[in-house]
Amino acid sequence: MITKNNFECPIITKDTKQAVLNQLEKSISIYDKSGIIAEFEDKFAKYHNSRYALLTNSGTNALLSIYIGAQLREGDEIICPAYTFFATVTPIFFTGAIPVLCDIDEYGNIDPKDIERKITSKTKAIIVTHMWGNPCKMDEISLIAKKYNILLFEDCSHAHGSVYKNKVVGTFGDAAAWSLQGPKTISGGEGGILVTNTEEIYYRALLLGHYNKRCKQEIPSTHKLSKYSTTGMGLKLRSHPLAVAIANQQFTNLKSILSARRKNAQILIDTINSIQGLKLVADLTHCNPNWYAMIIIFDADKFTISRENFVKMLANEGLVIDIPDSTSPLNILPLFQKPELLFPSYKGKIHYTVNDFPRAIEFYKKIIKIPIFSDNGQVTRRLARLLKNISEKYAR
Ligand SMILES: *Cc1c(COP(=O)(O)O)cnc(C)c1O
Repeated sequence: MITKNNFECPIITKDTKQAVLNQLEKSISIYDKSGIIAEFEDKFAKYHNSRYALLTNSGTNALLSIYIGAQLREGDEIICPAYTFFATVTPIFFTGAIPVLCDIDEYGNIDPKDIERKITSKTKAIIVTHMWGNPCKMDEISLIAKKYNILLFEDCSHAHGSVYKNKVVGTFGDAAAWSLQGPKTISGGEGGILVTNTEEIYYRALLLGHYNKRCKQEIPSTHKLSKYSTTGMGLKLRSHPLAVAIANQQFTNLKSILSARRKNAQILIDTINSIQGLKLVADLTHCNPNWYAMIIIFDADKFTISRENFVKMLANEGLVIDIPDSTSPLNILPLFQKPELLFPSYKGKIHYTVNDFPRAIEFYKKIIKIPIFSDNGQVTRRLARLLKNISEKYAR
């Protein structure tokens, strides 16, 4: 059986257990940048060629830290993907700024052309998500950010180690965030991290969620914000050292995780290319995805069964193929249609409807998500055979 449990990320090995035990004996509360926190942040910053890295207790809070760090406020507009996991965008509601959603390109990522159409004199920043590990069109998007002098942020929560034109994602903009949660490519169970080269974003992110010792340690006494070090802004978003020990151990293996996944992805690509009615979503000319997941478009006209039943047939064989549900176009969610019952100050300012972003909706209704394992290929070959068999059995 190919069950979810067998291949749940992170894969807990003997080394993972040892890393947790070692940390358990050292310290389970770390108040400043030291120990396992400093070790992981420094490694992560170096990998992304970045001056600062800051761990948080979730990817959502890493994103919030970027938005607060960049001083988004009422009157600002932030350009965001209409199709992403909602937590890319929801922290913006705590700043007063308006999320301006954009439709998708052929890869399910934010469309640079729609970004440019949505820019106004109020636009302060763009946030992109590299969906399912497929990098966005960063050449075009970086140029737009430069041309209009606006900030550029990346949500890399699906894309640890994904590469766009020989450059790893998370290195294109003013700040980037990653989730280190559950099934993410690097995971501590729960956690998040941000990187930035901008001192002011970093200090403000520290003040948001890391008050007292760490602020006093890192914000120089000559800096205008250092007098707030004791209280910061008053929230606490620190990560748990045991979670960081797990993520740190996973990160040590990133290279081998990626190379195993890329090999397994190739097996499936060859199979999918041989099936009428299934189409891979990935730009392999310009990108080297991390294959957090493989997304394919299911052409219902080419099969005698629906997408839902096709997925059910595979699921009956014990495969964890699914239709991503909670990652939906944001305009179908109540928070983006009528935010005012939760965020009163947004009354009359945001009212998306189900008819907005037709391309995102169409994509959402056609895709199937295939997990890519980091095993030696055995499971993947079985998956590929099943995919082929079931496709042939129900071909129109
Ligand atoms: C998982 C995820 C987040 C949120 O991260 P958490 O660690 O769960 O808070 C944000 N954006 C994207 C794209 C994600 O996949």
